[in-house]
Order: sequence, then structure tokens, then C-alpha cells
Amino acid sequence: MKYVKNYECTICQRTFPKDSEILTCPFCKEEGILSINYDMELLKHVFTKDYLKNNHDYSMWRYLPLMSVVDTKLVDTLKIGWTPLYKTNFLHDVIGIDTLYIKDEGLNPTASLKDRASGVAVMKAIEGNHHTISCSSTGNAASSLAGNAARMGLKTVIFVPKRAPLGKLTQLMIYGSNVISVDGDYKDTFQLSKMAIEHFGWYNRNAAINPHLIEGKKTVALEIAEQLDFKPTDWVVVTVGDGCTIGGVYKGFYELKQLGIITKVPKILGVQSSGCAPFVEAFLNNEPLAEREENTIADSIAVGIPRNPLKAQRAVLESRGSWISCSDEEILEAMKLLGKTEGIFGEPAAVASLAGLMNALSTGLIHKTESVTLIVTGNGLKDTANALKTVGKPVLLKPNLDNLIDYLKTGNQETGEVK
Ligand SMILES: *Cc1c(COP(=O)(O)O)cnc(C)c1O
Repeated sequence: MKYVKNYECTICQRTFPKDSEILTCPFCKEEGILSINYDMELLKHVFTKDYLKNNHDYSMWRYLPLMSVVDTKLVDTLKIGWTPLYKTNFLHDVIGIDTLYIKDEGLNPTASLKDRASGVAVMKAIEGNHHTISCSSTGNAASSLAGNAARMGLKTVIFVPKRAPLGKLTQLMIYGSNVISVDGDYKDTFQLSKMAIEHFGWYNRNAAINPHLIEGKKTVALEIAEQLDFKPTDWVVVTVGDGCTIGGVYKGFYELKQLGIITKVPKILGVQSSGCAPFVEAFLNNEPLAEREENTIADSIAVGIPRNPLKAQRAVLESRGSWISCSDEEILEAMKLLGKTEGIFGEPAAVASLAGLMNALSTGLIHKTESVTLIVTGNGLKDTANALKTVGKPVLLKPNLDNLIDYLKTGNQETGEVK
């Protein structure tokens, strides 16, 4: 918080003092989502490569000077961030690209990138003396909020659409959250949570509206840059629902460039499922964003009305990146491929980044000599029902070595199959 300069409205560009109690611009109302500016001149002397080299906090709080939280009790939180960035062993060859990295965000404490935002939300709630936090979510925002809040002794009230996958719902219940399952889609869920938050005065973790959350999400970009020795790849690929994650990814790289720590911002490729692709369609048809149905297995990015459109569209535009979609079938194929080539199991919304990259390679949008980082945003164990659709069931054999030998030699499932 020390280096925060002010809040700026993403629409009218008015600025507001950093101690103002507003969540959105009072002039542009709800659409006037704020962005947080830092005093870059001051930070240039503080937030340097040397500062990072001598920093032994291997969590997202290592970037504290470039974040909007106060340094209290941070050591008590779950360990969020500093997830591994792998150079692929096999996958790049299979999909035909020279250099590929994977940032595995499924290794965060509640198994998705959302922990970066929720960790910040919990600290902001504590700063503001709130005892209850609330959000509406398709799953991961909720489960990460519930876990991170439990660790810090806060109560949570979570609104989920009824189609949320069981793994994520189970997490909520285990973390002791008060779960309200709404008989409707994400839109209805969001609306009800908004009214309830206003009515009860709970702290609001709805990502699009709360400007601090993107400050947590941007740390994934800071890490990618640092893990690549401040030479990020030509492209970074990330999936998009509300648009807060992609906005954060861009902001992270952009601020590092402002600080002179990296020399260029990677091109950002936003990926959506073709069953719900408002950003991709607006981009391809050169039209304003329009509401879409939420028709995809990638529940975490099934957002018919994105709540953070400006930040998402600017991330792609200003990085000179692009948008692409992929089908549910391609997502399931990508899930299998990532698992068997690199040992990483991502949920549908996470591996859609790989499906999008494969489409971008085949259309020529990305060339095989360009280097790429894929952000795998969440762990596949959260949604095994969809994963099982693509791999089917294992073979069932009698406990008999001859049957096994025959099966392994011929692949003949009949021989040993229990009838
Ligand atoms: C939330 C989420 C996204 C997309 O983030 P937005 O901020 O909604 O665009 C992508 N993947 C996973 C696994 C998520 O949980």
C-alpha cells in the first residue's frame, strides 16, 4: 500500500486518493471499474532486480511493494504463489513449437490461480475490519476465498450457480463456508450476491468490481518474468471468463516494463470456449461485447456477461496479442495431452489455454519459432466428471498373469475381461 499513488477509473480516467473508500468510480457507477496506480518513480529505486534476488519470501507476497495490501499478518496466510514454471519435456514437440513453458497454477493452496486474488481479498477485509467476506463464483473464486478466509479466521458467504462441479462445492463445505447454491446461471447468482453484499455490508470479493484483486492476480506475471530471468516469452496464453485474470497478467508485465525490469511485454492470447466466447466474437466481428449463452464444460470461464471487459480487451490490444476460441472436444483432447506428456492435470478452463495455443499454431497466428508460456489456471481434480469423459474406464482383468500378458501384447481386452 505504501507505494500506491491513486485509483483511476478505467472509463473516465478520473483519479481518486488512495485512502478513499470507493470500490467503483462514483461518476461512471458500476461500469467505472478502478485501476490502481503506483508511484513508479519512487518504486524504481526500491523494486529492482537486486531487491528480488535478495528476497527469500517464496510466495506472492515477495512482490509486496507492487501490491495494494498493508504488511500485517502476511506470514500467517496460506502459501500462495511461486508456483513452478516448467519448460516442457515433450509437449512442444507434439504440438510443433520450439519453446514452451507451463505455469502450473493448480499448485496453489486451494488448487487454482484464484488464490492470488482471494489472498489479497482476505487481507483487505482484515484491514477494513470486516468479519465476513462474500462473493459469487462459478467455483474457484469461491473455494479459494473459503480456504484463505478460514486460515485467517474470517467467515464466508458464497453464492454459487447450481451447476458448479462437485469438487469445488466440496472444497467450500470443507472450508466451513456458508454456501448458497442459486437456482439459476452465473448472472442470477452474481445479481443476488450483489444485493446481499449491499444489504449486509459484507466485504465484496467479486473480482471484476474490486480493484485490489487484479493486484493479486498480476503476481502470476511477475513470477513468470522472474522465473524466466526477466526475459519473458513472446506470447503468454491465458483463458478468460470475467477478464480479471488476463487484465492482471497484462498489468504485471506492463508495470515491470515501466520499472525497467523487462524490456518488452509479451503478446497476450486470450482463450475462450466456443460455447461461451463473448470476447472472441466481439474481436473477430469487430463488434461491441454482447451477452452470450454459457454453454461449455469449462465452467470457470463460462461467463456470458464478462464483468471486467475493459481491462481484458486492453490487455490484448495493448500487448498486440489476440483472441481465439476452442471447442469442448478440443479442451478434453488438450487435457489428455497435457496429462500424458507433462504429468500436469488441469481442469477444463485451465487446459483450454493449450487447446487455444494449438489452434493458434494451426491458423498461423503463432509461429513455431515464437516462444510461449501457457498458464494452466486450475487443477483437474476439481472436476473429475468431465475428465473421465475423455479417458473412459480402465480395463478390467481377471487376476491371472497369462491374461495380463496377452492383454499387454495384443491389447485384446476380451481375453481377460471378467464377463
Ligand atoms: C477464474 C478462472 C479463469 C478466468 O479468470 P477471469 O478473471 O474470470 O477471466 C480461468 N481459469 C480458471 C481455472 C479460473 O478459475
